[in-house]
Amino acid sequence: MSVPAWYSLAGRTALVAGASRGIGLAIARELARAGAETLLAARSLQKLEEEANRLRSEGCRAFAVKLDVADRASIEAAVKTAPPVDVLVMVAGINLRKRFLDYTREEQEALLLTDLHGPVDLVREVGRGMIERGRGGKIIIIGSLMTILGLPYMVPYAIAKSALGGLTRALAAEWAQYNIQVNAILPGFILTDLTRPVWEKPEMQAWLTSILPARRLGSPEEIAPLAVFLAGRGSDYITGQLIAVDGGYSTTAIWPLQPA
Ligand code: NAP
Repeated sequence: MSVPAWYSLAGRTALVAGASRGIGLAIARELARAGAETLLAARSLQKLEEEANRLRSEGCRAFAVKLDVADRASIEAAVKTAPPVDVLVMVAGINLRKRFLDYTREEQEALLLTDLHGPVDLVREVGRGMIERGRGGKIIIIGSLMTILGLPYMVPYAIAKSALGGLTRALAAEWAQYNIQVNAILPGFILTDLTRPVWEKPEMQAWLTSILPARRLGSPEEIAPLAVFLAGRGSDYITGQLIAVDGGYSTTAIWPLQPA
């Protein structure tokens, strides 16, 4: 039985920026298994090569690409050497949790470079190629609940991620004429290297089960299927959307009152 065309990525090339671990790696694996030639990009080249090898041993087409999104020259080199990209998944990101008053100017700028300016540059350069080839394309931005909500002690991260929401909507409007769909996935509380220090704290575990409708953390593998869907033909009429994968956190509430 073959995969319905709406979901198949055969004949597509996908670049996943930030694919060495966590959410990006889970997305890269699933894109490759759905048939895309998948370029796993990040700074840790050896790790990317190991993961690409593993995917090739499963019969997938996967290759490693060295990329530092905070370095303009690295973005240009990666885009120049990579094969034409049909699907860009922009995942790379860092976070720093501090009081707003305690951020140094340098810390704030480093964060905005990796989480906002670099991603915008990469989207522009990959999108330029999509427009020139005239075959359309898919741009999938990994935002955050900070794209739509405010949580304390990560203001620069919130500035970057909410700006990526603006990028998603405005670019979707601008590039629809080229049949390029731009959408964002907003992961909720997902257990990865980035967030493990937060979720190791017992008080955070207690908060999670009391406040989150799903009553558990999500896994990187639970983000990947939406990325595969947004990368395929099934999303051709979906653009400019910010889609939370968050166990219900951003739109629902649980409360203690039980019906009689
Ligand atoms: P992670 O496990 O720390 O992975 C981050 C990925 O980004 C790694 O592959 C890392 O690779 C790459 N990266 C970091 N800086 C980079 C740079 N300058 N250039 C290229 N790649 C870079 O984090 P994660 O939890 O999977 O997070 C992935 C994305 O999801 C981030 O944008 C994050 O903000 C977002 N997110 C995560 C959660 C969550 O709960 N985990 C929630 C909402 C949003 P190298 O170090 O090898 O370069």
